[in-house]
Amino acid sequence: MDHRIEVPDEFVIPSERFDNPSFIKARVGAAPADVQGCLKTALCFLYETQGPKNLPPDRKTVAWDFLEEREQIVAQWLSTRASGSERKKYGKNALHAARTAQYRCADCGLPDVRCLQLDHVEGRKDPISTFRCLCANCHQRKSRKKDWPTRTVVKAVEANNDGEGER
Ligand SMILES: [Zn+2]
Repeated sequence: MDHRIEVPDEFVIPSERFDNPSFIKARVGAAPADVQGCLKTALCFLYETQGPKNLPPDRKTVAWDFLEEREQIVAQWLSTRASGSERKKYGKNALHAARTAQYRCADCGLPDVRCLQLDHVEGRKDPISTFRCLCANCHQRKSRKKDWPTRTVVKAVEANNDGEGER
């Protein structure tokens, strides 16, 4: 998908890494023997569409220094949501949405891992939560739709001048 915002490569996860066993094998093989098992878990968590449903904190800690910064950003983002403190709000469906989107916005294609968010497609009350991986802009546009001025320009300007409202 095309996107117009420049994103430095260091914050983009290359698409060819997904579901690519030889990529994981090469990365694991280059790491010290005592790190390999945990690094493999972390890379499978990041790159296998049907990979592990969580990244246990102790394994994440061992693998950490052998992950790139862009991978650390995604691992931190997803591990708290897949199995950590945010598990109840997100869980494995959210993880699956992020992986299958290959850490790109499902609307505009923006691949910046720093800006990704998980959108509850049917809102937070949906019992079987379905998620989309969106960039912060697309997520905001979707969730703020009800706020867009639909009356007159004058009223929109008045609302704007109220000032104290949340932004
Ligand atoms: Zn987007």
